[in-house]
Order: sequence, then C-alpha cells, then structure tokens
Amino acid sequence: MINPAELELLQQALATLAKGYEKLPSFTAEFDTDAAAQVLQLVAERMHDNYPYYHPQYAGQMLKPPHPVARIAYAMSLWVNPNNHALDGGKASSALEKECIVELGQMYGWDAPLGHLTGGGTMANLEALWVAGRLHPGKRVLGSKQAHYTHSRISDVLGLPFSAVPVCNDGRMDLAAIEAMLKAGDVGTIVATIGNTGLGAVDPLGEILGLANEYDARVHADAAYGGYFGLASELRDETRAVYDRLPEVDSIVVDPHKHGLQPYGCGCVLFRNADVGQFYKHDSPFTYFSSAELHLGEISLECSRPGASAVALWATQQLFPLEKGGQLAQWLDLGLLAARDFWQRLADSEHYQPLMQPELDIVVYALNAADARQASDRARRVFALAAENDLHLALIELPVGLVQSYLPELEANAETMTCLRSVLMKPEHGAWLDRIMTILEDCAVCGSR
Ligand SMILES: *Cc1c(COP(=O)(O)O)cnc(C)c1O
Repeated sequence: MINPAELELLQQALATLAKGYEKLPSFTAEFDTDAAAQVLQLVAERMHDNYPYYHPQYAGQMLKPPHPVARIAYAMSLWVNPNNHALDGGKASSALEKECIVELGQMYGWDAPLGHLTGGGTMANLEALWVAGRLHPGKRVLGSKQAHYTHSRISDVLGLPFSAVPVCNDGRMDLAAIEAMLKAGDVGTIVATIGNTGLGAVDPLGEILGLANEYDARVHADAAYGGYFGLASELRDETRAVYDRLPEVDSIVVDPHKHGLQPYGCGCVLFRNADVGQFYKHDSPFTYFSSAELHLGEISLECSRPGASAVALWATQQLFPLEKGGQLAQWLDLGLLAARDFWQRLADSEHYQPLMQPELDIVVYALNAADARQASDRARRVFALAAENDLHLALIELPVGLVQSYLPELEANAETMTCLRSVLMKPEHGAWLDRIMTILEDCAVCGSR
C-alpha cells in the first residue's frame, strides 16, 4: 500500500522548501511528540475501517487514488499551509492555480476563460448555476433525471425552478422531452451531464446546443466526472462528437479529484466568457491590500481554500500534461477498454446481464432473475458476498422500465430495481478482470443457493 520512495521524496521536497526561509532567524514550533504519537497510532487504527480504495479489487464507486506526486506535493505544501483566497495568504499557490486554470481551459479550447479551483464539483456547479441565474433571473434550470442530485438541490438554494428531464434507455437525456420543456418559454439554462455519475452516459451535447440556441438558453456542462475523457482516443464515435462540441458551452465543471489524480477538495469551474467575473464583485475591507493583481477570492464564492490543492494539481499537470496521446490520456483509454471488456464478460455470463454499453468507464449490470424483486435481492446478496471476498462493488437503483429494455423477459413487479455498478477508474482494472469475474461468478452461484 505504501511505497517507501514516497516518504523519501517528501523529505527531499521539504528540505528544498525549508531552504527558501533560511535567512530568517531560526524558529521551529515545538510539540509533544509522545502524545502526538499515541493519538496517531489510534487514528491509524481507526482508518482500518475503510474500504481498500487504492486496490484494484475496489471496483465500486468513483474513487481514484491520488497520484503520489499529487499526494507528496500536497503534503509538502502543508508546511506552508497557503490559503488561495487572497494573495496575502497564498502568493505562490495562487500563481500555480492560475497556471492550472489556463491549462484546463486549453483542454476545452478556451484561451482566456474565467475560472478557479473549488472544494469540489458541488461548489463548482453552484457557481456555474449562480452565474446562470444572474444572466437569466428566475428562469428554469433543466437537467437530466440521471444528473447528479446536486443540481436540483443547488437550484433550490439559488431559488431557481428546476425540472428533471427523462432519459432514454441509453441513459442520455431525451431530446424530445427537452424541447417540450423549452416550449414553455421559461427555461434559462440546460445542464448537460458529460458522463453522469450513475451510468457514465454522456448527454447529446450537439443537439442540446442546437435547442439552446433556438430557445435562447444557456448551456452548462457538468463534466465533473467525464471532463478529462476528451483526451482519450478510445471513445465511441457519438461520445467523441460530444467532446468535440464542448468548447461551445457557456460553462464547464470538472473535478480534478475524480480523474485528475488529485486528493479530495479539488473541483474546478470555468466560464467561456470572462465578463461574468463582474457578478463576483464585493468590497472586502480587510483582505486585498497586498497587490493590484487578481486575488482568486475576487472571482470565487468560497473564501478560504486550500492552496495545497493548487500545488498538487500543478505538480501533477507538470508530470502529466493535459494532452492527447499523453500518459493521462493512455490511462483513461485503459479505463474505457476495461469497461468494454467487463461489459462483454458480463454479457457472456449466465448470471449477469450488463445494461447499456459503457460510454466511459462505468458498467452497470443486473442479476438474471424472473422478476425485478428477485433480481434486486440477488444484486444485494452478490454485493455483500463480494465484499466478504474482498471485491468491493457499488449498487444503483434504476427505473424498472430502463432495466427491462435490456432484460425484456423480466417481470416488472416493482417500480425500481437494484443493479450493480462498477467504476473501472484505475489503469490496473483491466488486468484484474479475470480475478474480478471469478469472484463475481462464485458469488452469483453462492447467492442463488
Ligand atoms: C461527483 C459529481 C458531482 C459532485 O461533485 P463533488 O466533487 O462530489 O462535490 C457533480 N456532478 C457529477 C456529474 C459528478 O460526477
């Protein structure tokens, strides 16, 4: 689990960090190391009660271990503990954040976006919808029924009406339903999810942009999960087409703490038109005196934020530039291929039925059974049995009609059905599929006894 080289690299980085402060009179804060040691042992033991997220046999939720370079850069910067709210608190790390934002913007073909890092996708989406609401006051927000639940909640916080658009059986938003809602004339913003959290389905952006143009609505892309996949070369054609149109949306959210190899606390919001910065205006009496340069707190709703996130992201983007054909892109491709391979293996199994073909690296699959209730029970049993055998999966509750389109003989004796879901985010997942399938087949047999 722990590579000793990481600790060595951290020490080297800290030694270089300390050199920057050598001209000050020597000062190091003291603390009671014995007391701290006791508590640290205690807390390390408490941490055993986690699923083994770092391991390829964790094939459940969207949890990706941060890259060591991110982890080390983040830890190193904690000895400074910069605050990216204002330059007073995080001069160097604010500069690093601005450089990261330029590179993230370039990934979407934007030369001069307005943007910054956030605590995560939720805060980033909040800002995007807040700006959308400023531009279309009181108007409705549309998002997929499979959009992250955060959108309806954020709309509620912002006092904007929200409507959920039904999805087709492939998990993508239903265009006819969007158009019917647009005809009501009160829609200000359409949220297109670029890789929805449950299914990994990518909304049909080209058609959505066309409709938005016709009905004068904004388009916000929630690419919190899928935002990096435009770099990949293994996308299906219709998914590739979506990424090719992404530069045309008004705002984008991407979570570096999902596919960007970062520790938690790293989301990002980008606006194509930097003029929206005007909405953030405020008069803080105490923060911004050190420089005429832009303080990130002038363009973000959150105030104090960890500069460490920017330090870690910058280090990661140095090592793995955001470019097609690069290492990051190759890792994303491995996930896409692993998901397709897994889907096929499940299709070949007598116990399992995979649902839609994966667009990204998320696979959703049902257990074969006569009716929806039995299939749900079987899925929950396999979920628990697999965990006992150190294979960790996730569950998803889906409308029975959607599942039935893949299992036509299934009797629909419930409104929803429990299915299994695996996010194959780790580059190693593909190589572990033999083992993962063996455990799954064993569990399906045991679970049906
Ligand atoms: C994860 C996710 C969010 C929420 O982001 P957090 O980083 O968890 O706050 C929003 N939308 C989508 C599509 C996501 O996958």
